Amino acid sequence: MFRAVLLTLRLPPRAEMSIPFDRNFDAPYERPVEVAPRIRRLLTNNPGPFTFKGTGVAIVGRGKVAVIDPGPDDPAHREALRNALRGETVTHILVTHTHRDHSPAARALKEWTGAPTYGFGPHGAGKAEEGIVVEEGGDMDFVPDIRVRNGDVIAGEDFTFECVHTPGHTSNHICYALKEEKALFCGDHVMGWSTTVVAPPDGDMGDYLASLRKLLSRDDAVYWPTHGGPIHDPQAFVAAYLAHRLEREAQIVAALKDGVTDILSMVERIYIGLDPRLKPAAGLSVLAHLLLLIKQGRVAAENAAGLSGRFSLT
Ligand SMILES: [Zn+2]
Repeated sequence: MFRAVLLTLRLPPRAEMSIPFDRNFDAPYERPVEVAPRIRRLLTNNPGPFTFKGTGVAIVGRGKVAVIDPGPDDPAHREALRNALRGETVTHILVTHTHRDHSPAARALKEWTGAPTYGFGPHGAGKAEEGIVVEEGGDMDFVPDIRVRNGDVIAGEDFTFECVHTPGHTSNHICYALKEEKALFCGDHVMGWSTTVVAPPDGDMGDYLASLRKLLSRDDAVYWPTHGGPIHDPQAFVAAYLAHRLEREAQIVAALKDGVTDILSMVERIYIGLDPRLKPAAGLSVLAHLLLLIKQGRVAAENAAGLSGRFSLT
């Protein structure tokens, strides 16, 4: 029903769609907290404009456990993770994607435990098989022991995960659906506290929108993003997320219609009241939209289609 409504949705350019964000999430730093019968989370002390309160490392199962997104390579965090896992046997290390706040601690965790690492591939792997896209914020060192693809199943003693490939935020982004709890560990694909960053060259808006639509066809009961609290009623949340992106696209098209041709001016016009630290990311998101519009033949770039390009409607 919601999906049918969404497909016919045409928003006026300045309308603000409301995504039901929850910014009340809080947890103690570097201590495991049980959040569901099979799920504990440990919040890393790395708050910031992209990480919210920090990276929420998930520990799934009891006795023989999986760790999802082990977090940044920080000595205090590594020590806390080690303490949290005392008495457990880590059998699986799952990584949703290769950003520095998600994957780097996998190396130390693997060293202590001998557990294999799982992921779609190295950074950029969804774009090029060997993952050659170098960019700031990317963990260029992580290479999973086991490369998983959409639909693959990872089974442990106390858990069964289905892999759901969701490129867009990064090309190698993958979510893990815990069947026993109907819970989706959705990494940065969908976040309960904010929209996610889609930054070219590795980030891709066309892929991202397709990956959001992919989640609408699933019946997960709850999402556990790596940052922030859980998302209940996730399909409605994703529908609002998708509507928000279509609204951004409409705002960009409207700006182009009004003769605004460069990304910086579009950010000033569209992202009113934005945290100045997020402006470069907003610029990249606008570029991601423009690249999709170019692909669709709706927009042309006067010179190179980069951050300093000039754009017009075709
Ligand atoms: Zn990320």
